[in-house]
Formats: sequence, C-alpha cells, structure tokens
Amino acid sequence: MAKPVIAIVGRPNVGKSTIFNRIVGERISIVEDIPGVTRDRIYSSAEWLNHDFNLIDTGGIDIGDEPFLDQIRMQAEIAIEEADVIIFITNGREGVTAADEEVAKILYKAKKPVVLAVNKVDNPDMREQIYDFYALGFGEPFPISGSHGLGLGDLLDEAANHFPKRDTKDYDDDVIKFSLIGRPNVGKSSLVNAMLGEERVIVSNVAGTTRDAIDSEVTVNGEKFVIIDTAGMRKKGKVYESTEKYSVLRALRAIERSDVVLVVIDGEEGIIEQDKKIAGYAHEAGRAIIIVVNKWDAVEKDEKTMKTFEQTIREHFLFLDYAPIVFLSAKTKKRIHTLIPMIKVASENHTRRVETSVLNDVIMDAVAMNPTPTDKGKRLKIYYTTQVAVGPPTFVVFVNDPELLHFSYERFLENRVRDAFGFEGTPIKIFARERK
Ligand code: GDP
Ligand code: GDP
Repeated sequence: MAKPVIAIVGRPNVGKSTIFNRIVGERISIVEDIPGVTRDRIYSSAEWLNHDFNLIDTGGIDIGDEPFLDQIRMQAEIAIEEADVIIFITNGREGVTAADEEVAKILYKAKKPVVLAVNKVDNPDMREQIYDFYALGFGEPFPISGSHGLGLGDLLDEAANHFPKRDTKDYDDDVIKFSLIGRPNVGKSSLVNAMLGEERVIVSNVAGTTRDAIDSEVTVNGEKFVIIDTAGMRKKGKVYESTEKYSVLRALRAIERSDVVLVVIDGEEGIIEQDKKIAGYAHEAGRAIIIVVNKWDAVEKDEKTMKTFEQTIREHFLFLDYAPIVFLSAKTKKRIHTLIPMIKVASENHTRRVETSVLNDVIMDAVAMNPTPTDKGKRLKIYYTTQVAVGPPTFVVFVNDPELLHFSYERFLENRVRDAFGFEGTPIKIFARERK
C-alpha cells in the first residue's frame, strides 16, 4: 500500500528541518549499522497520532550552485511533484518576506493541497503574528513551534484531511515489483530500455494509482512483473533531476515500493561512496537485492577481470554478501535476459517460509558444531527458533538472555541458515527474545 506523502517547503531558516525531525522523531533502524551509510534525513516514514505517512524535507535538497531564489523554487517544484500534500512553512518572527511570496507563487500553480504553517510561535501571546500570513492566499495559517513541538498535531490533522481518500493498493501481491537504483549515469534508463526491448517481453503502460506511478508492467513467459518508477529513471530534463539528493530521494521512494532492487554500478568507472550509500538504503529497507555491473562492454578484460571486480565488490559491500552479481551491458544487451530469472529467484527467496522443525534441526546442528558463547560465566542457551515473517525472512530465536547473542554468533547462525536454505538475494533477520 502506498502511504501518503507530505512535503515540507519554505525558505531557509524558517525551521523545516527542526519540524521534520520533530515529526519523524528518532526512528530506530532495526538492522545493524552499515559502515559508510550516513542517514540523509530528508525522507522518512512517520506516524503522528493515527496518521501514517512519508515525509520529505525539501530544504535538505541542495541544488548545486544555483542562486538562492532558484533553489527554493526548485524545492517547491519537487514538493509539487512528489507530494500529496504540501506544508508551507514561514517564520512568524519575521513576517511575510519576498522569498515567501516566491514560494507561494509556485505553489499556486500546483493542483496540490497546501497547508500554511507559521513557525516559531513559541508562546500563545505571539499568535497575533499569524494574521499577516493570510495574505499569502492559502487560507488559515497554523501557528506552530517546531522547537517546542506546539501546534504540530493540528497542522498534521489538517494535512491528513487532504490525503487521497482511496486506499490505493498498487499491484496484486503475486506480481513481482522491482526497481533499478544507482547514481546518475550508471545506465539505469538504458537498462530499462534494453529490458523493455527484449523480444520475449510484452510491455504495457500502467495507469498507476499513485501520483507518480509511471511504472511499466512487463509479462515474461506469461508472468507479470512491474518495473517501479520507470519515468523517474528516464527523465532528466530539469536541473534538480541530476543532483545527488534528488536521486537519493527517488531511489528511496522506488525502494519502498519494490520487492527486489537492482543496484546498478558502472563497470567502467568502478565503485564510489555514493554507490555504497544507495545500496545501504536497499539493504536497510530489507529488500531483495541484485548487484548489476553495467557497461561491461566498455571494460578491457582478460580472464581474471570479472573475478577481480567481484572481489572488489564483496570488499566494498560487506553487508551485501547475499546479493548475486551480474556483469552485463545495456548497450550490447549481453546477459540482459538473465535479469528477469534472477529477479524471480531473489523474490522467491525473499518471501520463502521454511519448516519450523527443519529450521530447529539446523540451529541445533549449528550449536553442536560451534557451542554458544558465554559472557561473565553465563552461557547463551537457545531453546527454539521460529520464522515470524517473510519479505525479508525474519527469525526469532528464543533464548535465556538476549544480551548473550552477540553479533558474531548471530552472524554464524545466519550463515548456517543460509547454508541450509539458500536465501540467495535476500537479507534475513534474526532476533533474540527471552523465553518467558
Ligand atoms: P530550515 O533551514 O528551514 O530547515 O530551518 P532549521 O530547522 O535549520 O531552523 C533554523 C533555525 O530556527 C534554527 O536555529 C532553529 O533552532 C530555529 N527554530 C526552528 N524552529 C523554531 C521554533 O519553533 N522557535 C524558535 N524560536 N526557533 C526555531
Ligand atoms: P542513468 O542516468 O543511470 O539512467 O544512465 P543512462 O541510461 O542515461 O546512461 C548514461 C550513459 O551511459 C549514456 O551515455 C549511455 O549511453 C551510457 N551507457 C548506458 N549503458 C551502457 C552500456 O552498457 N555500455 C556503455 N558503453 N555505455 C552505456
């Protein structure tokens, strides 16, 4: 199900990121820290009272060397493009400024609901300051204080009133959804075109249910797949579409809607930090992952090149040891046809349930082979293990004391489970719980 999206816009220093952080709160990542992945906090899921939505801080998208006014105009355009509802933030202590009016001008043109907030109204006797803001033409301004957390409930209630009414479910559960992510110019759109151009592939454009769902539905051997966000990968007209933050935003949104994510790397240029970051997001989201090395035609090779490149990838993406790697070329189409079968396998593993009795045999064999660790004289005892979820497969190990299941032993158990059941292409999660 696609969650509604709220975007925050406004000129610099009105308090956008303060408000973003206040609404998002400290969301705890349930997977281990991935080296190299720093959180670009411009996009996050959020819950507020009974509302469940995604939130974008467009202020965090800096657009190169563009002049100040162009930057805030582009941020407003991004908000219009990406969001269901826009929260327009102003500063009650400074009144309406020319830059606010610029933002307003762009937002008028949008057919998206806009809720106006006047921030930094830290105490009730400052509320009179909001009246000037009626002049911006977005109706009643909501007084808030981001730093004190005041008025946010009313503001979000108003925003939620404008959420799309229908509960939109994008596609049937049995349709495999995948996306291609990667930094600009690695060849994502060329790859999509190459896949769509395959003879066995029947393409139909999907009348998407979500705002920007310009996805492609493809049928291969009678089976349906959906390429998420085909449009986002292809269009590169506007200035901001080639900026790093915007491409990260698109990637996060595509990951969210996908079962399987193809992390595309440029074989000609090699791996850079941004590749790791993007892959880290897909891993954190618990999606099945395939590493695609594109432009393999342009690489000068001997019989060792592929092996060496593979080793380099494994060293750089330690946390993606489960992801298969494919070397291909969108240009020559070499090995393009292997993608769909790989996606299918990864998706099957991502949603696979294993039998509890077999699972417990595997765990007990593992423990027999490598005894559980002790800490301060206390030994970890494993009672039983059960699979509690799929997408990705998630296991709970019932133990005497969860603190005793250290990362290295958890990793060992994970490897035994992988040896026994495969799970190629999908992360798996293991949690320890105390047996009551
Ligand atoms: P952004 O550039 O719009 O993202 O603004 P920031 O969130 O970085 O905030 C700019 C400054 O305003 C920071 O110094 C914040 O501490 C301050 N600020 C944010 N919200 C409030 C508020 O509600 N009241 C007051 N007094 N200051 C605030
Ligand atoms: P995107 O920004 O990730 O969507 O990348 P594009 O698909 O626009 O490709 C960027 C550039 O790389 C273009 O000039 C493509 O022609 C080129 N390119 C894409 N795939 C290949 C490939 O397999 N081999 C070679 N040699 N060039 C490629």
